[in-house]
Amino acid sequence: MPEVCGNYVVLNPYVWLKNACVVFKERIEDIYPLGSEVGEGLKNTVVTHGLASTHTHLGLYQIRLSVSEGLPLDEWVKLRAWPWEKFLRSNPQLTYYVALNALKELLKSGVTLVADMHFNEFWVYKALIDVGVKGDLSVAIMDGGVFENFEEGLEENLDLSRRASDPKVRVRLGPCTPRLLTPLQYKEVVETAEELGLGIHTHIAEVLDDELWLKSRYGMSLRDFAHYVGLGNVDTLAAHVVWGESLIEFLSSKGVKVSHPPRSNTLLGDGRAPIKSYLKNGVRVSLGVDVAPTYSLVDDMKSYLVLHYEGEGIPQTHEAFKIATVNGYQDLGFGSGELTLKEPADVVVWELPKDVSKVGLNPISSIVWGGAKVKEVYVNGVKVFEEGNLINVHVSADSINAKIEEYLKDFKRED
Ligand SMILES: [Zn+2]
Repeated sequence: MPEVCGNYVVLNPYVWLKNACVVFKERIEDIYPLGSEVGEGLKNTVVTHGLASTHTHLGLYQIRLSVSEGLPLDEWVKLRAWPWEKFLRSNPQLTYYVALNALKELLKSGVTLVADMHFNEFWVYKALIDVGVKGDLSVAIMDGGVFENFEEGLEENLDLSRRASDPKVRVRLGPCTPRLLTPLQYKEVVETAEELGLGIHTHIAEVLDDELWLKSRYGMSLRDFAHYVGLGNVDTLAAHVVWGESLIEFLSSKGVKVSHPPRSNTLLGDGRAPIKSYLKNGVRVSLGVDVAPTYSLVDDMKSYLVLHYEGEGIPQTHEAFKIATVNGYQDLGFGSGELTLKEPADVVVWELPKDVSKVGLNPISSIVWGGAKVKEVYVNGVKVFEEGNLINVHVSADSINAKIEEYLKDFKRED
């Protein structure tokens, strides 16, 4: 039976054991402490549960740095995202190779579960299965854009839900955002999800323009819209919700799960989501990479702490770790997000820099702030990542990049 040991085994964001081991098959079978003498032989390692990125676009990994060019969201979408997305749409298999690289970087920050919303999602599904990471997938349904019309997007999402049969992956419907669907179309997606017993994944109130658009075009406030389309009538994962103060009571009473990508919101000038108010009022919050210059959830934990505590008390590092593990796993319905007996064995072994003292170490700080590196990752007890490499993908990193380069010859960036 696989067994991993560490100077610290983090059971949850608040409790850890010194010098201990975790034994597992598909699920965790035992967690036991070592004698302190044996423990001293361990090499600066910390064992934790895996992390979850609850809002990500793996297919946009190739253009990740473009979000740091100083463009506001709508400009970035027009100049950077659309041209790339149209290119991906005409070269669907490119999504597979780009997703492999994106997943590799996510694994380097201990991510074992990803909620992805985009198109070419069957290729994303294949990448997830080949890499061995868990997923929650949806198609970004919009009226136009990369699709001929709304119906084509919906049909692609329904097709994905019929074909994605691996139990490590679940499918939702993905009404993209209020500005790319009419309220009636959005409502139809929610009702279809309800009929099929599926959840939805959506972008809501990423920018103030969502509210202004709904008001000028349909005479609706954001709250009217949420009620009208039945948001929260099904399991709802809502990305961003930067401008959602007016929705707090609605989000909390309906159990809507907010996915918060701090770097993306900051770099694209969306604003600062009222996350502290959400948490205080019982709204569920987890973390997502969305599109960011690195696909590292550790970078988002740091940003979360800097962004939301700026001028408001002392950052609580364990809180960031909690929303990246426990909240993410629970919000996507994949388990407790803690290392406990009989939980699925999604386990990460981190190695600390050699000069970090083990004396008085806080293992959570060592991960979030201390430059701990991911050494090994297991998902459902299967090793999927070791020393920077994807274990189960039999195409070399060089070949993956060569394939991408080949496609890129035909891509023209619009400047
Ligand atoms: Zn997004």
